[in-house]
This record gives sequence, C-alpha cells and structure tokens, in this order.
Amino acid sequence: MTANTMKALAKSKPEPGLWMIEAPVPEIGPDEVLIRINKTGICGTDIHIWNWDEWAAGTVPVPMITGHEFAGEIVEIGRNVTGLTLGQRCSGEGHLIGTDSRQSRAGKFHLDPGTRGIGVNEQGAFAQYLKLPAFNVVPLPDDIPDDIGAILDPLGNAVHTALSFDLLGEDVLITGAGPIGIMAAAVARHAGARNVVLTDINADRLTLAADVVPSVRTVNVTKEDLHDVAHELGLTEGFDVGLEMSGSQAALDQVVEALVMGGKIALLGIPPGESPVNWGRIVFKAITIKGVYGREMFETWYKMIAMLQNGLDVSRVITHRFDVSEFAEGFAEMKSGRSGKVVLDWR
Ligand code: ZN
Repeated sequence: MTANTMKALAKSKPEPGLWMIEAPVPEIGPDEVLIRINKTGICGTDIHIWNWDEWAAGTVPVPMITGHEFAGEIVEIGRNVTGLTLGQRCSGEGHLIGTDSRQSRAGKFHLDPGTRGIGVNEQGAFAQYLKLPAFNVVPLPDDIPDDIGAILDPLGNAVHTALSFDLLGEDVLITGAGPIGIMAAAVARHAGARNVVLTDINADRLTLAADVVPSVRTVNVTKEDLHDVAHELGLTEGFDVGLEMSGSQAALDQVVEALVMGGKIALLGIPPGESPVNWGRIVFKAITIKGVYGREMFETWYKMIAMLQNGLDVSRVITHRFDVSEFAEGFAEMKSGRSGKVVLDWR
C-alpha cells in the first residue's frame, strides 16, 4: 500500500541545519495509526533544532525527524484501534503521554511528567508519513482545511493560555506578538474580552497582528507608553488578565505593573534561565500566576475546533506557504522574525 521509504526532514548531524533524507516508513504498533502528511507548520522549536542551540543539543538525539505541527490523513490503522477510519483527515497532539502518573490517572493527560514530544524526543511529522498513537489523533471536520489543521498545535497553545481565565467582559493585555500571541488575541476577542491590547517591540509583527485581528489595539512599547494606552481605553484600574507570550523579563514586569488589583497572569513565554522577579509587587497586588504548557488533552482541541467552526478566524496568521522542496526558504522566513506561520506542503 505504501512505499518502504519516504522523504523526511531530519537533524542527521549534530550541527546547524536540517537535511532532506530517505527514511524508512514507520511501522505501526497495534494501538497506532500511520498518517500521510499533507501540510506541516514550522515552529519556533524547529528553529531551535535547526540552529542546534544549547537546548537542542542537550535535548534532541541525532538522527531525528523534526516537526510536530501537521495535518494529514490516516492510511493504516493498528489492529486494536477503533473509531478511526482509513482516509480520515486529521491533525493530532504531538505530546506522547504515559498513563501511570497521578495526573494521567486523574485524566489530566497534559500534566503527565513523562511526556515525550514528536519531532523532539520521538520521530516527527516533517515526513511523508508519521506514526502516532490513535489516542493522539484529532479528526478534522470537513470545514477545517489542512492549512489550519497544520497550525492547530500552536493555536492550541494560544487557546490553552487565553482560556486559562474567564475573559468575558474583561480587559486583556497580551505581551508578545509572535504567531501564538496574535492567535491568543484573536481567541480573547472571540471569547468576549472587552479590550485586547497586544504589545511587542517588533513593528512587522504588530502590523501582522493588526491584519489578523483588526479589533486588537497593538502597542509598540518602544514608541508608546502602556499607561497612556490604558488611559486612552478608560482603564483606570488596569487590565484584568495578562497573557505573557514573549518570554521577556521586561514584558512580564510590564504586565505586573499594568494589572488591576487581584489580576491574573497566564505565562506561556519561557524566560531564558533565571529571571529576577519583584515578588513583593505580585503579593501586594494579590496576583494569580499560572504556567501553561502544551494543550489540554483534549479539551483545548475540542474548544479550538468548536471556535473555528463558530467564526474564529486565524487564517491570515499563515503568511508563507512553500512546497517542502523549498523548506530552506521557509526556515529563512521564520528566522527573519518578520513572518507569521510558515506552512510546508508535502503532497
Ligand atoms: Zn509548535
């Protein structure tokens, strides 16, 4: 039915770069499916792996097929699998979990401490075929195209972060206008926030944000003061909820400063190493902080598909599409810091 080998984009040497290789088509186990990949999204994680920075060199074994953002269709089904059909379009959760931990046994699969990521710890999705536990498969409704299916993983990060707290009628400050921050702004609007302010220091990204979510107030914090913006919007006591998506210490400080008493912060951005935090300020403002990792399995997936079917539109966050033969151009766009999501076509 399928060939024995496939094209795959791999880290095949412990040095910067990725290489197109011929790899064996994965053999599936009884609880797994084989997915023919149609489209994949390039993630910041993939850029770290391409660059072979300290994190990547210390985390990713070589050789490794990279990539974890994908849409495709099921072409082979393990003998224990029920409820999935050949030809079914799907995306899927790239975090492979164990079922023995306390959190998994409580049904909080996204909190399993033994989670392994495809494209990082296990062979990934930048390939013509991907094997995945049937448990991780998320079927795609007909009205969600492969382009969107290929970015559900980062959209899921945005949805998980944005829905950490009730946003209905709230004033929301989002720091970091990368693709996930921009999508979080779209989700916050969809979820009924009154004002959504999105900050960055990169003018190109703020321009993209205004294009994707016209109703968001973008702020270049190198040119504009957040206090002035809050005043202009009539927020006399501050923002209710902060979503920190940049990993920047300065941004986190700005969020704490700009929040109302008793405000809430969800943190998705990862600060480099140890960052000094003024804890006294957080205590005296009675602020709640939540760290966010991955997506809730599978509530985040359920909610994001439902929102996409109910008018949430993030399609313009995809700024570049390439045939996979032009993957180097796609990575160059990502590395420029000016792009939104870059999608590679494997068909
Ligand atoms: Zn990703």
